[in-house]
Amino acid sequence: MIQLDVLCIGFLERDFEGELTAAHSTSTLIRAEGRNIVVDVSTPYMWPAVKTSFRQIGIFPEDVDTVILTHTHSDHVGNLKRYPKAKVYVHKGGKSEISGATVVEDDEFQICPGVRMVHTPGHCTEESSVFIEADRRYVCAGDAVPLEGNLKENKAPALNTDRRLALESIERIRRYADVVIPGHGAPFIV
Ligand SMILES: [Zn+2]
Repeated sequence: MIQLDVLCIGFLERDFEGELTAAHSTSTLIRAEGRNIVVDVSTPYMWPAVKTSFRQIGIFPEDVDTVILTHTHSDHVGNLKRYPKAKVYVHKGGKSEISGATVVEDDEFQICPGVRMVHTPGHCTEESSVFIEADRRYVCAGDAVPLEGNLKENKAPALNTDRRLALESIERIRRYADVVIPGHGAPFIV
């Protein structure tokens, strides 16, 4: 049985002109048979919250064997060194390659039974989501769905490299998911 735990709930802050002043991603732990997988590792600012979650769940960051990065923006990758034993996956396409990461080129890539990476570009070229078949169908969407409003109002991410692709990716996520874990924010029901 696959289990999900949100390690920290990320957020975005904007000033009154709409400029981003803070960005910290949500981070999620997926426990599948014999596997501990983290999707997005968030930022050092969020590490105390992540660490507390690990303690409550009863596993250690060292137990994490796999890290999936939805993309390579700094607000999603800041704690990578906290997972020394993890194999890191990122989809091809980004300019900023993560050193040592396994680069996925396929549209869909199975990490383990019930957990697959799906290319959902538009926010950036390498953007991917993680589709999870657990008690419900979950999607860790990264910034394909940065905030709940993007999916609920069918709005492309404010920051995007291709608006049309971004809207297609949102649609793909909507068709699959019962629950979405956005790039920044708490899980919500579709
Ligand atoms: Zn982000």
